[in-house]
Amino acid sequence: MKKITGVGACEGIAIGKLRVFDNTVSTIAPRTVQDIEAELSRFHDARQRAIDKIEELRGIALKKVGPEDSMIFRIHQVLLNDHAYIAQVESAITGGHVSAEYAVQQVGAQFASMFRQMESPYMRERSADVVDVSNRIISMLNGEHVRDLCEGEEPFILAAQDLLPSEAIRMDRSKVLAVVTCTGSKTSHAAILSRTMGIPTVVGTGMQLSMLNNGQTIVVDGASGVVIPDPDETILWEYERKRAAYENDRQRLEQLVAVPSRTLDGTAVSVCANISHPDDVDSVLENGGEGIGLFRTEYLYLDNDRFPTEKEQFLIYKSVLERMAGRRVVIRTLDLGADKPAPCLHMPHEENPAMGCRAIRICLRRPDIFITQVRALLRASAYGKLSVLIPMVTSLDEVRHVKQTFASCMAELREEKIPFAKVELGVMIETPSAAILSDQLANEVDFFSFGTNDLTQYVLAVDRMNASISELYDPAHPAVLRLMRIAAENAAKNGIWCAVCGESGSNTDLTDLYLSMGITEFSVAPSSILRVRDKICSIDLSKQEVSFV
Ligand code: PEP
Ligand code: MG
Repeated sequence: MKKITGVGACEGIAIGKLRVFDNTVSTIAPRTVQDIEAELSRFHDARQRAIDKIEELRGIALKKVGPEDSMIFRIHQVLLNDHAYIAQVESAITGGHVSAEYAVQQVGAQFASMFRQMESPYMRERSADVVDVSNRIISMLNGEHVRDLCEGEEPFILAAQDLLPSEAIRMDRSKVLAVVTCTGSKTSHAAILSRTMGIPTVVGTGMQLSMLNNGQTIVVDGASGVVIPDPDETILWEYERKRAAYENDRQRLEQLVAVPSRTLDGTAVSVCANISHPDDVDSVLENGGEGIGLFRTEYLYLDNDRFPTEKEQFLIYKSVLERMAGRRVVIRTLDLGADKPAPCLHMPHEENPAMGCRAIRICLRRPDIFITQVRALLRASAYGKLSVLIPMVTSLDEVRHVKQTFASCMAELREEKIPFAKVELGVMIETPSAAILSDQLANEVDFFSFGTNDLTQYVLAVDRMNASISELYDPAHPAVLRLMRIAAENAAKNGIWCAVCGESGSNTDLTDLYLSMGITEFSVAPSSILRVRDKICSIDLSKQEVSFV
């Protein structure tokens, strides 16, 4: 089979047997639910996500195969919006007190059988489409399959239409040699998770999953984005050699594990790690991370059907701080919403979730959830060097509100005689307004961390998840760089430090530019630490001529 090209999202070469995660759903057993409202909202949320996903696929198909062949996605969208179908699922949930997955599968089967009995061949064909869209909703509802897929001894290469963050977090990194997806983008959270785990990944290949078979041999090159199913002897030999060269380069970089990140002219920089799970600390230490620059705590909520308690969170944060042994750990307060909807939040459907109720907006509306996390963080601060980072800040008021919450939690802990240490507070500069207000924000906080994934999406009005416009998504766009420079200058004027924790931090073509802005911390996937350190150690800032547009 011929070579498929997608977007390389995590470097590394893998050769192995394929397992297709095709989201086809086996028979679902009925499960009784008590909270009918929550179940209805899970259904509507999953249905909407299925519609969004199909719209994305339709955009890609339109470009690749033209309007006629992409018509199938239109049909799927019509089915997903069908009033009779929606009403029947709702009444199955309400009347039968059953789970949304079960209701969708039952109603899907009834509709499919109805279509099969129709006279028109065209309508008969639609029965497969009803099953297809129902399965898509079910797979949106249910992120359990990847974990099931990882059962067994044999390592494999995972191919999927796309992965949800809740699915990607369940991958067993000792089994998954590489990931290949049909859609998806480099800065989607699923791709970020693969990268954090160091799993070679290619996204947005545009391939049809049905072209692939379980068990076939496949080559994946996560740097160039090349995927080759059924390689012949010559290709295998070529990629074995590339893999050996890649391993040699890794070994060269490993020499830098204990080397300080310092430019040739002596500027000290920290190369830290982004993590999503306490287990990721292993690879941070293996790769010589000088700290943790971003711990995305929302995965503690995503991998759960209830909120983690204060004690559960405290123990996790404490263990990460202890293992980092005095090195700085930046823990971000939860950034749920957008492409990370948490089942336990029961959020109402939003038309535009990236601009909806996410991150700090949720925390400020749900003090019960936020106070639990803030108390856990403060309690853990006694066990290491903790900094707390606030995501999606757009105003000064939000920061002041957060500071009040911290102050009242500290007062409570003092009264309860529970120890805590001084904690630095920082904001993510990931919205245009945060960058524009950075002179004022810099007065309120101890550090800035550039979230270039979101900053790029909001400045350029380019959805970071939308593979069909990925060529417009550019963290090096002059508009993004100008805003970063303004914020970095305001940080310097106020004597606070500045980090970059978005994915562009590992793009070594931008390292000198970021350094010349005054950024002193790069927080990247653990597997990228050594490459970024290598780059930093080769730069002489005194000889640098960086021009900003
Ligand atoms: C970012 O937006 O750059 C960032 C680091 O946050 P996330 O990718 O989790 O949205
Ligand atoms: Mg972000």
